[in-house]
Amino acid sequence: MNKETKFDKETQIAFNDIKEKNKMIETWTKQAEEGKVFEMCSCGHFGGMSRDSHNAHEPNIQAGHGKCKLCKCDWFTWVGFCNAEGKIEK
Ligand SMILES: [Zn+2]
Ligand SMILES: [Zn+2]
Repeated sequence: MNKETKFDKETQIAFNDIKEKNKMIETWTKQAEEGKVFEMCSCGHFGGMSRDSHNAHEPNIQAGHGKCKLCKCDWFTWVGFCNAEGKIEK
């Protein structure tokens, strides 16, 4: 008898998604710490988990997600991962 409900399946999928996301975040965080990956804000300055030497955004909830120190940007708005020159890698 198959007791698995739709809910169980959805929960399992959601759980796998979270595990997958956490793995990705772990990889990005490691690369960010090593200065291999930076995050770009819509204002054109580094933010998010970009390393401290480059990060222009103040901490808010998470590191680099607050106000930009270099312009009037109020909130880090992620536009993409980029290299140390700010070039967004696709
Ligand atoms: Zn910004
Ligand atoms: Zn800015």
